[in-house]
Amino acid sequence: VVEFPVSLHDEKEGYCRKLGHHLTFAYCRVCREGAPCDKILDCWFEKFDVRSFLEAHYTDEELYQVVKPQASKAASLIELIEKARKNVG
Ligand code: SF4
Repeated sequence: VVEFPVSLHDEKEGYCRKLGHHLTFAYCRVCREGAPCDKILDCWFEKFDVRSFLEAHYTDEELYQVVKPQASKAASLIELIEKARKNVG
């Protein structure tokens, strides 16, 4: 079992759109094999300064893993749109 740093925010609760129920921040910050959930910024920014929390506790590489899935989805969406435009043209 990997030990993770205890966070002051661990007890904070929020509704999880992925799982469909309430859970605590303690789960969100480690739920991807120890890495934060890719939705962590969206889900928590209204409750506290989650960006500063992430920057203080994770390396740049780990943070890249947080935003990467969204970035690659956006990139593939753009590729699909460009292909569709070419087909029309
Ligand atoms: S950060 Fe992820 S696990 Fe946490 S509430 Fe949001 S979607 Fe659910």
